[in-house]
Amino acid sequence: MKIAVVGFGAAAIGFINEIKDKGHEIHVIEKSRDIYSSSISGIRSDGKLFISSSMGGDIEIPLETQKEVVNFYLDKLDESERKDVRTGISFDRKSTFFEKFYSKGFEPVNAYFYHIGTDRLKNLLENIYNEFSSYKNIKFHFGIKAENVSFDGNKIKITGSNFEDTFDYVVISVGRSGHGLVKSMTTDHPEIVTSGNIVDVGIRYELPDHAVEKLNEEMYEFKVRMRTKTGYMVRTFCNNPSGRVVLEEYDDFVTVNGHSNSNGNSENTNFAVLCSTSFTEPFNDPIGYGTYISKLGNILAGGRKVILQTYGEFLENKRTKRIGRVKPTLSDESYILGDINLVLPRRIAISLAEFIEKLGEVVPAIVYSDNLMYAVEVKFYSKKINNEKYKNLKFIGDCSGHTRSITYATCHGKMLGRSIA
Ligand SMILES: Cc1cc2nc3c(=O)[nH]c(=O)nc-3n(C[C@H](O)[C@H](O)[C@H](O)COP(=O)(O)OP(=O)(O)OC[C@H]3O[C@@H](n4cnc5c(N)ncnc54)[C@H](O)[C@@H]3O)c2cc1C
Repeated sequence: MKIAVVGFGAAAIGFINEIKDKGHEIHVIEKSRDIYSSSISGIRSDGKLFISSSMGGDIEIPLETQKEVVNFYLDKLDESERKDVRTGISFDRKSTFFEKFYSKGFEPVNAYFYHIGTDRLKNLLENIYNEFSSYKNIKFHFGIKAENVSFDGNKIKITGSNFEDTFDYVVISVGRSGHGLVKSMTTDHPEIVTSGNIVDVGIRYELPDHAVEKLNEEMYEFKVRMRTKTGYMVRTFCNNPSGRVVLEEYDDFVTVNGHSNSNGNSENTNFAVLCSTSFTEPFNDPIGYGTYISKLGNILAGGRKVILQTYGEFLENKRTKRIGRVKPTLSDESYILGDINLVLPRRIAISLAEFIEKLGEVVPAIVYSDNLMYAVEVKFYSKKINNEKYKNLKFIGDCSGHTRSITYATCHGKMLGRSIA
């Protein structure tokens, strides 16, 4: 079969690895100019691999399959790097923090993790790419953004920047950054959408390492969630001890994110606090909702920047004009001091405040007034795709709406690969 894989991220890696020696002609179409400069995502930044039955996506993936995927990635590291990969358990029942969080109404999320670190991902990706591109039946087309995918009789045609070809089987694995392509495909083919009206909107929180030292020491990646009085579920996400806050770049706006290198390189910890918002009919554009809020933040910040505010002034609804003891790790030109309350809808802002105040009941230093909040952080979920609708057009990974982690996206690709291999 002549197969196209659109987007070369975690899901594509899982898929290609499974079918690479089954005799298919595989074309990988990736919009970035090479393996390194692809859209920012966990496979290029941070690289925390989780094994968990309760986070990472809504498909059931046996823990064994998740372990296989984690081992696949670990095997791609050099031996010395592999030995240094930091690993641990988030909320083991024996954790001293489990009961503390639980008694305050939080749901502690159990997961095993392996933190590869941004600095090692480059080598890891290069090893994967070198292995895949050594196969004669695999051809990489870098610098090609797929703009249109359409049925052409029994085949599927892909057109993009200086590219046009038809395939027997097409796998769309464009992640969240490929939401434009998925949106146009689901507009042309509404029958492939099953549901999905969710977007997570929130902030990136930053505070000194020493303030959360015990928490970081015990589990490194603390994950808790709680339903707040507004009815919204709020959660912590992507904790980065000694990490850095970074911009997440989209074509027409920026949001905030965080990452850390394998050995850390700052004196601050950052994590996201995200509020899951879901909508009912007639509204059906959660991506538009998250995009508008992000753009509003950028407008108020004066360009491709985010807004930074101290936690104390966020609670007081006052613009931050001066920061206190916590020095931002995001570069100066990427933020402006301001008031996040002008950006976030009230229901989201009060849900975040309630959640953070509760965190402070477990770890008091979390609510020091000079801790920092950056807005907006958004997690887009693609609409959920029904992969059974067409036998030769499939969506895997985050763009399918069914995954949101490296492990789950890779497993999703692997499972599809197995089914056609
Ligand atoms: C900054 C950041 C940090 C994260 N950290 C973690 C983490 O530590 N651990 C974790 O488990 N998860 C993390 N995640 C989530 C994780 O990255 C994703 O869940 C996972 O990578 C999804 O895999 P994917 O293959 O679906 O998409 P991706 O890995 O995002 O790959 C999609 C690929 O498609 C390409 N593409 C997009 N549109 C087109 C187009 N039209 N034509 C051609 N190519 C296209 C992109 O350039 C990209 O290479 C993070 C996400 C972000 C944004």
